[in-house]
Amino acid sequence: MYNFTKIVASVGPKSENRDTIRDMVVAGADLFRINFSHDTGRVQGHKIDLIRDVAAELGKPVGVIVDLQGPKHRIGDFKTDKHYPLKVGGHFIFDDDPTPGDSTRVYLPDGDVLKSLKPGNRILLNDGKIEMRVERVTKHRITATVVRGTEIWSRRGFNIPDTDVATSVLTAKDREDLEYAITKRPDFVAVSFVQSGADIAAVRDFITARTSYPIKIIAKIERPNAVARIEEIATAADGIMIARGDLAVEVPYESVPAITRQIIRTCRMMNRPVIIATQMLASMVENEFPTRAEISDVANTAYLRADSAMTSDETTIGANPVNAIETMARILSFSDADTIANPYDWSRVDNTPQNDWSRSVSSMAYLNHATAIVVFAHDAGAVEMISARKPDIPIIAVCNDKMIANQLCLLRGVSPMFNEQLFGMRDGFNAARAFGIHTGKLVIVDDEKISLRTLS
Ligand code: PEP
Repeated sequence: MYNFTKIVASVGPKSENRDTIRDMVVAGADLFRINFSHDTGRVQGHKIDLIRDVAAELGKPVGVIVDLQGPKHRIGDFKTDKHYPLKVGGHFIFDDDPTPGDSTRVYLPDGDVLKSLKPGNRILLNDGKIEMRVERVTKHRITATVVRGTEIWSRRGFNIPDTDVATSVLTAKDREDLEYAITKRPDFVAVSFVQSGADIAAVRDFITARTSYPIKIIAKIERPNAVARIEEIATAADGIMIARGDLAVEVPYESVPAITRQIIRTCRMMNRPVIIATQMLASMVENEFPTRAEISDVANTAYLRADSAMTSDETTIGANPVNAIETMARILSFSDADTIANPYDWSRVDNTPQNDWSRSVSSMAYLNHATAIVVFAHDAGAVEMISARKPDIPIIAVCNDKMIANQLCLLRGVSPMFNEQLFGMRDGFNAARAFGIHTGKLVIVDDEKISLRTLS
């Protein structure tokens, strides 16, 4: 089974063993995400080793994404484990007093958040099930009015969609996790709760001060201010993840599909890969088969020409992670092969001078009915540009650098092939044959040189 749209599989308690990782790769997983929210990086490092072992055994590039927790805010503990009642129209206080909370108040551990809030700002707790509005702000506390919700309890998530938080995108935990992760050479680092291009620049500075390996940075878009600054963030980052879980808490959920299309469009114009994440096959945490709505959601990832679809709970705590990947691969390969013309008109998006070169590669392939584009990938740049034109034939990327091969796993339509003897593949024929193509025309790209060759 061949997917143009790639699969990122999150690894967790039900899948962090060698056999399941191997079976997920065989079933279609192209990359793995290790979510550092659930433990320290050090405890999770062995998962990177497992993935590298499996990739070596299968002789296949497989990407590794380390996902940093980021400044996700949570309220502190209450005096007991019980749920404390809330009254719509009543008041509730968040303060800097670390003692356990009660029915009138609770501790907010992150002082920067207290400083950032202003009267009128919304506060969403427990994935948006509780909504409050800030009434008064003093140095040590904020008083809010309850708009929605009936009860509150310990450690609920605290989202503030209207507020730019004056806090570093890397928390103390992230710094420690990233410091360690860098020693394991992940291919990507995903950054949570990004608010600006400067956030990405700060993470890049942190990485480049510690390693010369070109680890790529993925910005997770989950805040309204990140959506508003998508071009600035896409310029600074190497890829984008539409993190629909937190995003749908912070923006009205009905706007998430429109935002998804807008971000895919921007990423296409700017030659940045984009991952669609969260709840893609959520019912498969328990069930053997997906819902009809989930099937459509996964298929839309292909129809929208996103680069990758990501699994979350389905493969971390789900009943059958391998079945979830098989299901996703099956839906994607059918939708990728759907010959009904792509309903979205991308021509104006692609029609920018910086995309001229890659448009000519894609047009040459299309006009000559080529069966594949073979690119000698001295770096990721040329492949990223060609993939962003979304040609409907495979892009075989021959790399003599393992990290580049792993990073290219994220890109739509790209099959990276690692070969230390890059020059042995120079005519492109061997690469096409190794991929399973034995006849037809090939567009071959080597640096600036583009040629058309016939394989017979
Ligand atoms: C999300 O919120 O959609 C997401 C991918 O982030 P996380 O799983 O880290 O909460």
